[in-house]
Amino acid sequence: MEKKQFQAESKRLLEMMINSIYTQKEIFLRELISNASDAIDKIYYKALTDSSLTFDQDSYFIKVTPDREARTLTIRDTGIGMTQEELENNLGVIAKSGSLAFKKEHEAKDGHDLIGQFGVGFYSAFMVADVVTVITRAVGHEQGYKWESTGTEGYTIEPWDVAETGTEITLKIKDNTEDETYDEYLETYRLKALIKKYSDFIRYPIKMDGTDG
Ligand code: ADP
Ligand code: MG
Repeated sequence: MEKKQFQAESKRLLEMMINSIYTQKEIFLRELISNASDAIDKIYYKALTDSSLTFDQDSYFIKVTPDREARTLTIRDTGIGMTQEELENNLGVIAKSGSLAFKKEHEAKDGHDLIGQFGVGFYSAFMVADVVTVITRAVGHEQGYKWESTGTEGYTIEPWDVAETGTEITLKIKDNTEDETYDEYLETYRLKALIKKYSDFIRYPIKMDGTDG
């Protein structure tokens, strides 16, 4: 298992996420669903030029699964997946586009709704989770990988048996504190409302599979 540190810039953003100075924590779901949708888009576009791939609409979906007992929320997609190298490059550093927009806006306005306006992406998961696990297998690859992070401590990557290509992101939802409760992110009706609010335009089916109906 490899243990790595985040890059300095990523680390700063991560610290902000973990300490969550933002009120709109709920947007993490929008960010993860948009990444899942992008990952399916990538197969779609690849299939246009790669004759070994076919895009069968029915095989592509996003699935959101809360588990109240385990206190986890899982977002799975049947998209392109990530190789070990892509895991390193994409989740070890802040996506350039996102971080640039973030910084610009931050300098310009010192606004409170930065995340609401700009997708800062994957790291927003750390607003509601204290452990994030990514299990993924890239299309065209036999070997899958598991990436895991508690935020500040950096992250680990190890080979992992993954039956199907695509990506599964599991958030270990934070425990409630005196000031904050996170239980809502484990409740089906609340998650459905968030999906409706932020992800209504997503063109792939978003399935829900929950323990609380
Ligand atoms: P952005 O979406 O703006 O590029 P993110 O922080 O949201 O930034 O995601 C960083 C990168 O991680 C993505 O560009 C993508 O390469 C990769 N990634 C994140 N989630 C997934 C996923 N579900 N499937 C495949 N790749 C992903
Ligand atoms: Mg994104």
